Amino acid sequence: MKKKVKLKKEVKYGLMGIIVLIIAVVFLVQFISYRTSTNYKLTELGYSKEEVKTITEKLNAEQVKDILKMEYHKNLVVLLEEKYFIFDNLERYLNYQNENPDKSMSDVVSMVNVNRDRDYYTDTVETDLSLGDLILVNKYHYLPDDFTPENIVSMNLQYAYDDNSVRDYVYDAFLEMYRAAKEEGYQLITNSSYRDYEWQETLYNNYKTSRGQAYADAYAARPGYSEHQTGLALDITCYNCEKNTFDEFPDSEEYQWLLKNSYKYGFILRYPEGKEDITGYSFEAWHFRYVGKDMARKIYNSGLTFDEYYAYYIEK
Ligand SMILES: [Zn+2]
Repeated sequence: MKKKVKLKKEVKYGLMGIIVLIIAVVFLVQFISYRTSTNYKLTELGYSKEEVKTITEKLNAEQVKDILKMEYHKNLVVLLEEKYFIFDNLERYLNYQNENPDKSMSDVVSMVNVNRDRDYYTDTVETDLSLGDLILVNKYHYLPDDFTPENIVSMNLQYAYDDNSVRDYVYDAFLEMYRAAKEEGYQLITNSSYRDYEWQETLYNNYKTSRGQAYADAYAARPGYSEHQTGLALDITCYNCEKNTFDEFPDSEEYQWLLKNSYKYGFILRYPEGKEDITGYSFEAWHFRYVGKDMARKIYNSGLTFDEYYAYYIEK
């Protein structure tokens, strides 16, 4: 009888021992997996629990790995919350923010997305011609010297001043817009349209010779960098109207009409007021760019400049 009780006790303690061991192993495994987890490593870098949550929600595993290679940045999570944040630009955002502490985070994102953390005409690239009507031409994206759009046609003097030409389907779109404006009592006219490389070169060099390079850069694009070379851009003002000069046009009813309606015909205002820092150009109330109706509506609704829209939605 005594022996039996003893044995029972041993079995009892043995079982308890095994259970304790199992629990210990489970805890150990959990502990090790926690210490080697991304969340723990992010915490070790200095990110709070809340920040870790945002980082792992907004970024994919590869991107988080890149974050782990960097130092703690107090602005990282603020950046991640920005609508137009592009991961590849992360280090440039942080540097630009450092150099421009007064700028809001969304301005930082906008500026870097359009390369404005770099000087004009530096790190330039040949634009992606495969994008057709969505090609970007600005102070960082140029057209090849020999780029010549197809289907360039002359514009009738009823719709344009002398010596204007544009792609045929852009002409059609302009005519549709012209007629719609006319019905509301506004007469539009094209002042400037397709300009080839040599034309732009002469224009730019004339400014440069007479007023210097800084002046030339402020008022004309360098050859290869003008949107007019695409055959997709039109400088539009009004005819038989009160405010028909470029200086007066921003105050005209015709400009207001174009601002509200041009997207319906496939055009966007390319250099809007207040976006000079983004586009790299002074406000040009007359310069409209054809991108097609669908895209024009999307860009119009986004409230972005073409440069910003391109960086986030087209190039990405
Ligand atoms: Zn223009």
